[in-house]
Amino acid sequence: MVRIEMALLLIHRPNRLKYVDSGVMPNMTYEGDVLRPGGSEAVRHSETDLKGLKQDFRQLHEKVQRITTEKMQLERELDGLRKTSQRLDEEVKLLRSPPLIIGHLQDLIGEHSAVVRSSNGTVFKVSVNSSIERETLKPGCRVTLNQDSLAIIDVLLDGWDPLITGAEMIERPNVVYDQIGGLDEQIALLREAIELPLEKPELFVAVGIEPPKGVLLMGPPGCGKTMIAKAVAAHSKSTFIRLVGSELAQKYIGEGGRMVRELFALAREKSPSIIFIDEIDAIGAKRLDTATSGDREVQRTLMQLLAELDGFNPLDSVKIIAATNRHDILDDALLRPGRFDRIIEIPLPNEKGRRAILKILISKMSTNRVQIGHLVSSTDGFCGADLKALCVEAGMQAIRCSRGRVRVSDFNSALKTVIKAKQESTTALPAELYG
Ligand code: ATP
Repeated sequence: MVRIEMALLLIHRPNRLKYVDSGVMPNMTYEGDVLRPGGSEAVRHSETDLKGLKQDFRQLHEKVQRITTEKMQLERELDGLRKTSQRLDEEVKLLRSPPLIIGHLQDLIGEHSAVVRSSNGTVFKVSVNSSIERETLKPGCRVTLNQDSLAIIDVLLDGWDPLITGAEMIERPNVVYDQIGGLDEQIALLREAIELPLEKPELFVAVGIEPPKGVLLMGPPGCGKTMIAKAVAAHSKSTFIRLVGSELAQKYIGEGGRMVRELFALAREKSPSIIFIDEIDAIGAKRLDTATSGDREVQRTLMQLLAELDGFNPLDSVKIIAATNRHDILDDALLRPGRFDRIIEIPLPNEKGRRAILKILISKMSTNRVQIGHLVSSTDGFCGADLKALCVEAGMQAIRCSRGRVRVSDFNSALKTVIKAKQESTTALPAELYG
């Protein structure tokens, strides 16, 4: 035992060994290789010393373990820092590299040349980076071009225009048919034209007719066109792609047409789907001979839209709903059967309609026995949005008077406010337009 301890001592405390050898511990003698104590005093000394050595050894052992753990931690940290530095180096390299131009491949000429159209429309014959696989280079694909030589550097994956991908509504609107008042007939027509072919196409096959491809909703503003389209989207399990017509009216030649193509391609990929184009008059206005270059681009977009409408099979699971306030200026080509087969008018609500809308709106409010009859008869010429404004205004009156319930008097004073605002409104459309 003593021998082991001494051996350990030799490893960790060489100075102590010197101390033994130099005779400062005179009672220790060697018998051959073995160091033995020489007498009882000497035994006591050596035991105390041994205890001290054991303690030292334990402390040193713990220290070694601590240092080893620390070393491992530091090595791990160093690894992490090396990786971060590599990533930052790459980022710096990317930030320093010049931007590449995006173009479209038009044709391949021989092994190493190609014809490309850059984003500003100019066509160039350029060389092709030899590391690009030939099979990936297909006419029409998007490529990146070097700024100086316009050589093809890389082939880009086909991407959708962000405006088109942004149009896809990931979250379904939460409008239900019950929230729409006075439009039961129109809702039935729309569901028949949009939902039925998507849900039961076999019915149309059996009867041998083609279902409508699209529906055009028209009528004055604020009467619930957007609301109906949202309710269809919420009710059907289809992808809902919503776009405003003006978003398709682009500045550069061919851009609007490309977006329409991408819109329909996205709808086909995500089918069953419903495309909703609000304010379609922005691209669907009558084509005139005296057009500026901007008008001609809008006309090209319209022609692409017509081509897409003609191109898809009525039984395809893509349906299109368009809405407009200005059906009078729409191009006849859009209105002919086979495109928007069903034109549904969403008129200003009549007395029955206003009653239904007010009932829906007031049922959500906390009120004191409101006479709907009086409100219905006093709101002739109000659209759905006006009726909503009336209810909001009445609610505001109650809040102003620190009341939790809306009274008849609140509705009466709100009625005066809304009528006054309507009279002052300069944006009112001529009544005969929808007459
Ligand atoms: P625009 O042509 O200006 O886009 P729109 O016809 O699409 O107008 P919506 O946006 O659907 O009108 O309606 C505006 C608001 O008016 C809705 O949010 C809703 O609160 C209310 N509203 C309109 N019509 C109705 C209706 N029939 N039933 C209940 N609420 C309605």
